[in-house]
Amino acid sequence: MEQFIAELERAQVGEILLNKPLSDYTTWKIGGPADVLVSPEGKEELAELVRLIHKHNVPWTNLGRGSNMLVADKGIRGVVIRPGKQFDYAQFDGTTVHAGAAYSFVKLSVMAGKEGLTGLEFAGGIPGSVGGAVYMNAGAHGSDVARIFKSADIVLETGELVQYKAEDMKFSYRHTVLQEQRGIVVSATFELQKGERKQIASAMASLKARRLDTQPLKMATAGSVFRNPPNDYAARLIEESGLKGMRCGGAEVSTQHANFIVNTGQAKAEDVLTLMATIQRIVKERYGIELVPEVLVVGER
Ligand code: FAD
Repeated sequence: MEQFIAELERAQVGEILLNKPLSDYTTWKIGGPADVLVSPEGKEELAELVRLIHKHNVPWTNLGRGSNMLVADKGIRGVVIRPGKQFDYAQFDGTTVHAGAAYSFVKLSVMAGKEGLTGLEFAGGIPGSVGGAVYMNAGAHGSDVARIFKSADIVLETGELVQYKAEDMKFSYRHTVLQEQRGIVVSATFELQKGERKQIASAMASLKARRLDTQPLKMATAGSVFRNPPNDYAARLIEESGLKGMRCGGAEVSTQHANFIVNTGQAKAEDVLTLMATIQRIVKERYGIELVPEVLVVGER
C-alpha cells in the first residue's frame, strides 16, 4: 500500500487524503475512514488513477454525494474515488444538458427549469450527484434518469474511456449496467424538452411541498432504505407493521416516513444495520415479503 500511495503522489492524480472519516461525506453522517480518499481533477487524472489502482490491484469504491450509501463503521479499505471540482459543471445547449459527475442533481433540475426545459422536475428532491444518479437510475414521481438519458462518458476499471448510450446502460428500476460492470461516470448528457418556465416552477414547487410534508428532510438520512416491492410500497408495509419510531442506538425509523431511517445524532452503521434486519424480519413474518435494501452498504463491518 505504501508503494501505491507514493506512486499516486508522484502521478499527481488529485487531492489525496489518508484515513479520512467518511461520515463527513455521507448524508447519514455515518461511516468509518477510507484508507485513501482521492478526488481526481479531470478525465486524464481519473484515468491515470484507475490505471494505478489496476496495476497495484487495490480495491476501490466510487463515492458521489453519499446520499444513498451506508458506510460501515470500520470504513472502506483501499481507495475511495470522489470526482473533484473539475467534474462540478453543467452546460446547456438548446434542449441538451451536459453535466459533470460531481454536479448536484438538484441544482441541475433547478437550472433546467430556469432554462425553460422540462423533464428534470423529478430530480428536485434527489440530493445526489449526476454520477450517482446515473449509476442508480435515480427516479421519483413516475420518472427517472432513463427517461432523459442520452449518453455518459465512463472510465472503465481498465482505465479506458468509453461512451455509453441509453441502450448500453440496461436501465431498470434503480438499476444500470454499472452495477454489474464497474466503471466511473465522468459526465452525462440528457435530452429535455422545451416547456413553460412558470409551469415547470409550479410543478417543482408542488413536488417540493409534498416532500417537505412527507419526508424528514431536516434530519440526516439516506432517503428510502428499502426498494418498493412489486405493486406495493415498503413504507406501507413498515408503517402497518407498527415500526415507525422503533430505535436501535442512535438510529430510528422515521415517525414521518416509515421507509426512512434517521440518524438522531450518534448513530453507528451497526445501529442502522440492526434496525434494517429487524424491519426485514418483521415484515417477512407479517406479509411474507422480503424487503430488499435500496441503500448500498459498503465497507468493513
Ligand atoms: P452515492 O450515495 O455517493 O453513491 C451511490 C452509488 O453510486 C454507489 O454505488 C456509488 O459507488 C455510485 N456512484 C457514485 N458516483 C458515481 C460515479 N461518478 N460513477 C459511478 N458510480 C458512482 N433516490 C431516488 O432515486 N429517488 C428519490 O426520490 C430519492 N430521494 C432521496 C431523498 C433524500 C432525503 C435522500 C437523502 C436520498 C434520496 N435518494 C433518492 C437517494 C439518493 O439521493 C440517490 O440514489 C442518488 O442518485 C445517489 O447519488 P449520490 O451522488 O449521493 O451517490
